[in-house]
Amino acid sequence: MYDAETPTAREPRPFATFERMESKVRSYCRSFPAVFERAEGSWQYDKDGKGYIDFLTGCSVLNYGHNHPAMKQALIDYIQSDGVVHSLDMHSKAKGEFLEALESKILKPRGMNYLAQFTGPTGANAVEAALKLARKVTGRTNVIAFTNGFHGVTLGALAATGNSHHRGGAHIPLSGVTRMPYDGYFGEGVDTAAQLDKMLSDPSGGVDKPAAIIVEVVQGEGGLNVASAEWLQKVEKIARKHGALFIVDDIQAGCGRTGTFFSFEGMGLKPDIITMAKSLSGMGLPMALVLVKPELDQWKPGEHNGTFRGNCHAFVTAKAAIDTFWSDDDFAAEVQRKGERLRKGLQEIAMANRGVVKGLKGRGMMRGLDVGSSEISDPVVDAAFKKGLIIETSGAHDQILKVLAPLNISDADLDAGLEILSNCVAEAAERQALGSAA
Ligand SMILES: *Cc1c(COP(=O)(O)O)cnc(C)c1O
Repeated sequence: MYDAETPTAREPRPFATFERMESKVRSYCRSFPAVFERAEGSWQYDKDGKGYIDFLTGCSVLNYGHNHPAMKQALIDYIQSDGVVHSLDMHSKAKGEFLEALESKILKPRGMNYLAQFTGPTGANAVEAALKLARKVTGRTNVIAFTNGFHGVTLGALAATGNSHHRGGAHIPLSGVTRMPYDGYFGEGVDTAAQLDKMLSDPSGGVDKPAAIIVEVVQGEGGLNVASAEWLQKVEKIARKHGALFIVDDIQAGCGRTGTFFSFEGMGLKPDIITMAKSLSGMGLPMALVLVKPELDQWKPGEHNGTFRGNCHAFVTAKAAIDTFWSDDDFAAEVQRKGERLRKGLQEIAMANRGVVKGLKGRGMMRGLDVGSSEISDPVVDAAFKKGLIIETSGAHDQILKVLAPLNISDADLDAGLEILSNCVAEAAERQALGSAA
């Protein structure tokens, strides 16, 4: 029996296996009713050969596109040579080479001194490890997280996540986190960092001294909200003033998405802990990493573990990604140029459809259109898919149409995707105009 509520139920046959066998918890497949078979660069193809431009890229897991030849070749060579696939946290040649690339091409050139903690291969597990370590180091339990923050859905990370739909899935009290307003939450002119400092400084402010403040520099799932450099600098200072660690969750905004390898580059920030996952392996293989200032690395061996911390295939492709894209500054410059092209494209859509587009969101190559509600955004997602574009929404009301195209997408493909988006938004604006005239 298939779930009659799923959009796919209207065409049950191609999805019969999934509907018969798979849990109702599946979600993206409901927005994109196709069976995908292969993918290359910025394109995914379904089993009938229809191509789709990918403006979702696994939610920023595929920043370098699908099946990039450099990563694919490195992986094929490694498999051909019977390279170790899984190694728990034993030393492996693949891990050693990844660490050397991370050190010499990412950390050293940026003047960053961090130790690498490999966790279980999900973003949530990296966040769990970061929060555990902050609590261990400070001896405190409370953590400050922000409105619209998304940090994963395991219990510790979920406590830091704002979204009520995800929080509701816990069915157990989520504890140890105090929610504070993100930059701009109350609109321009309200300094939410000053509020945070005042509440933490007031002995009757009711906020327990935190072990950490965890923040996304650009909120991916939360609606592409952008924190200013000034606000982030203040929050870091507030963390230090109150003896808390400053954690940047760079799982979605990192790996070049904002135009630099880390989303906070050029802001003068020195996070105590940085969490990474999604695009770190570069090819979609599961891998997560916590970067920790050396003096904070107070773990006992094995205190936080996880069987899948040694995915050597991911180490191989992660090293290939660093070698290919981050050996110099050319790629960052290219992403910044393309981010500006994306901004201009979205701006044009916004100008032409003022009735439905409330504003532009995001930074770099993570940008979107605020269309106010899912009543507008959902039909746009559906119509875009029919025209061959995969695009998702984010934000508390799914009100943001979010473009997470590959960072190395060609200008032609970027423009083609924007053209489809533009047509679909124009149709939504037309429907809205007809609706309000009726
Ligand atoms: C996706 C995401 C996570 C969780 O990662 P999973 O791999 O889904 O567990 C955590 N933080 C941020 C900012 C994310 O975007």
